Amino acid sequence: FNNMKRQMETTEHMRREFIANVSHELRTPLTSINGFIQGMLDGLIQPTQYPRYLKIIQEETQRLIRLTGDILELAKIQSGNIQLDKHRFPVRDLLDKVMEAFALPLDNKKLAITIDCEPELSVWADPDRLQQILHNIISNAIRYTGDGQSISIQVAEQDNVSVFTIKDTGAGIKQEDLPYVFERFYRDDKSRHGQIGTGLGLSIVKNLVEMHGGAIRVESQVGQGSSFIFMLSKR
Ligand code: ADP
Repeated sequence: FNNMKRQMETTEHMRREFIANVSHELRTPLTSINGFIQGMLDGLIQPTQYPRYLKIIQEETQRLIRLTGDILELAKIQSGNIQLDKHRFPVRDLLDKVMEAFALPLDNKKLAITIDCEPELSVWADPDRLQQILHNIISNAIRYTGDGQSISIQVAEQDNVSVFTIKDTGAGIKQEDLPYVFERFYRDDKSRHGQIGTGLGLSIVKNLVEMHGGAIRVESQVGQGSSFIFMLSKR
């Protein structure tokens, strides 16, 4: 009984913490959007400055759209209301589809991409969910990797598992931050200061990988880059 009570308290504590985090994350961009609009209405911001502030308002709005989408997604996953639709399919096509979505940022940043995945290699997964997993990891790799650097993606078979490795030569993650990167709302200094991310992408990834019965880990060295490695069973 005591165990059950403790578990309920922990769940309740996590729920409260989640709501507090969500409120904070939503309020920050809303406050700044509201502030800039007020400045325009009051004439404190001159019309010549409008384009600059509208750009910031747009960026903050886009952040809110990403954030609300991620929050909903995570809530859905954690409520256990998602059924995986697993089947066997060649993964290379899916990988190409994911990469297409990144054509513009890849080109802008002049990143070198290598993909190492046999055309006939098949995996056992829910294709939409696997696409989401890859999308989140690769978008981080692009985001946290400087111009002209490189990203490599490898899918290989080992015994009874498919092993995915997404490696970048970017900023890397401090040793003390490594245990937390898959936690909800966790962002390290580089991301927090720039307010780029939502801190939810990797938490969604971990949940989806584990729903598949798989596992994920990260290896990283500051200034050298990061590797995200996840495994899915082949059946
Ligand atoms: P975010 O939306 O902030 O990127 P994530 O959950 O996707 O949230 O990632 C959590 C944190 O892990 C990020 O804020 C960033 O600090 C770090 N991180 C994730 N991927 C990478 C990467 N490829 N290189 C360096 N840091 C990363």
